[in-house]
Amino acid sequence: MIERICEKPEIYNIHIPLPNNPLKNLNCYVMKTTAGSLVVDTGFAKQECLDALTAGLRELNVDMDHATLYITHLHADHTGLVDCIRTDQTRVIMGTEDYSYMGKIFNDEIWPEYNRRLIEEGFPKADILTQKKENPVVIYAPKEIFAAEPIKAGESFFIGDYEFESVSTPGHTPGNTCLYLKKEKIMFTGDHVLFDISPNITCWPFVRNSLEDYLISLDKIAGYDIHLALPAHRKHEMDVYERIAQLKNHHIKRLQNIFEIVKKKDYQNAYEIAGQLRWSLRENTWQTCPIRQRWFATGETLSHLDYLVQMNRIIKVKDGDLFVYRAK
Ligand SMILES: [Zn+2]
Repeated sequence: MIERICEKPEIYNIHIPLPNNPLKNLNCYVMKTTAGSLVVDTGFAKQECLDALTAGLRELNVDMDHATLYITHLHADHTGLVDCIRTDQTRVIMGTEDYSYMGKIFNDEIWPEYNRRLIEEGFPKADILTQKKENPVVIYAPKEIFAAEPIKAGESFFIGDYEFESVSTPGHTPGNTCLYLKKEKIMFTGDHVLFDISPNITCWPFVRNSLEDYLISLDKIAGYDIHLALPAHRKHEMDVYERIAQLKNHHIKRLQNIFEIVKKKDYQNAYEIAGQLRWSLRENTWQTCPIRQRWFATGETLSHLDYLVQMNRIIKVKDGDLFVYRAK
């Protein structure tokens, strides 16, 4: 399905389905200009995604030899199909931070480290092994790293007279970016600002405080003059500044909830704390919800615990093989 977003500049949204995924779809934006097209993000390395993307690009008559493919961040639903749609002539651009972090993922330096941390934080070891086989983040990622032109934070590139600034917004991923069409004041927000779902903020190996990074990055985007904000998933009909305020509020409330839970009982591990929080688990309880949801929820809880530790509100100590938390 293709949706026309605006006439001048000419922007379309190719809906890429993400079956069995709460994100529902990826919005792949295509901007057509006389100097070639811009394509933003791609979809999972999965047949349904590839079919929708290639059909959409064909219908819009996008010539990939004269296209610039911009990747907002390293997640598989954005990077999965880069090598499937590019030609030798396609310009592929991605923020330098996430591009090098993605290199570490392909070198197997990140997921083992991440899973090791989850186990130390109380996540059941057997579940880690199971989720590895079914986690879309892992199984629908590209098979190997694709070649790209890394772009530095704040740098611009041009398509004809259109100037695009790569805006560094770390938090959702270590080197997450948004893309700002300067004169037209259009912000492709990637997963940094989503409108009807809150972006997952997890703890990342080699990142000190993802949530703090994310909150700072929200303020950064709020400082831009934005006439139209285009998120990478689901709908886009909402005031971006209002949404930024809601997202900040969501995390402040969650920090308070976690602090209350930590205060209730001394020495709980992160997995136990995550189990007491409210999540949208549909009809499931914490015990019966799929491993993947508990995996994401524990990561999200850890980013908030890291924040509270950094802010000196709680302390983290080792208890046997596990880390546990208590209020100060
Ligand atoms: Zn993402």
